[in-house]
Amino acid sequence: MSDHTSNARRAIFITGGGSGIGRAVAIYFAERGWFVGIGDINEENMEDTLGMTEGGFKYSHKLDVRDRDAWDVALKAFATAAGGRIDVVFNNAGIAHGGPYIDQPKEELEALLDINVKGVLFGAQAAHEHLVKTAPTSILINTASIAGIIGAPGLAAYSATKWAVRGLTESLDAEWAADGVRVASLCPGFIDTPMIAQVQGDSNRTAKEALQESGMEVSPVNDVADVVWSIVHGDDLHYTVGKFAKKMRRLHRWMPGTIRKQMRQRGLGVEL
Ligand code: NAD
Repeated sequence: MSDHTSNARRAIFITGGGSGIGRAVAIYFAERGWFVGIGDINEENMEDTLGMTEGGFKYSHKLDVRDRDAWDVALKAFATAAGGRIDVVFNNAGIAHGGPYIDQPKEELEALLDINVKGVLFGAQAAHEHLVKTAPTSILINTASIAGIIGAPGLAAYSATKWAVRGLTESLDAEWAADGVRVASLCPGFIDTPMIAQVQGDSNRTAKEALQESGMEVSPVNDVADVVWSIVHGDDLHYTVGKFAKKMRRLHRWMPGTIRKQMRQRGLGVEL
């Protein structure tokens, strides 16, 4: 094991770093002196992220999270760039497709499984050998969602992928405890990123507009970066982001009948 108590600059590798949550977390950690590596399929967007990121300790690597071998290459190259260490792997890249489940095309179901589930499974496997070297302060953070805690109509397949991420997180938290490697999940409510800026189906409004019209909370993306920072420095297992996600998690735990009734009657109160 390397000496994690040394003064070496700590390093975080972030997938989906070309946009939204991954970008915000990259900027946030760089501002606090970390060596930041981002991986994404979109090279142009990664360039933009690096342009917004302070300091000289930044790095990008084109990575398709669906490719298990590419994960090994990306993390090895980042560890070398970062002086031999990776302290945090933020397994965050993901996509969303919603709508009535029976109408969802096969291609969407496959893409959800490939990126949100397989991509995260592969990332966790590839991360382990690096995180073991920086234990006991290292951590794997997997991005799930509040949809990984409650199942909502219109989000069935997405929700299934995020439940999988939360299950993986709990299992690995237990399995890797002996190695001193922490594992946690991030469960945001609705966050103001390009993911919810897409126009919904046949409507002429974006998911963000629909959410706001129905009074739903849409949290600023920097709130997620704050929470990711507290995950790295905390010791919990599942972390929500935003008041809405916190409330839903509490209701799901303590009043499951109430939340079920609400979901059956009006879902989240918005068509996504
Ligand atoms: P985003 O669309 O802004 O960013 C996602 C990034 O992932 C993009 O840069 C995209 O290029 C990248 N990506 C997609 N497929 C990839 C692949 N195969 N390999 C590598 N990179 C790939 O979305 P976001 O809102 O920042 O979402 C990030 C994560 O947060 C996702 O897992 C998402 O499910 C989750 N999440 C988002 C919200 C929200 O409301 N925005 C809520 C809960 C959870």
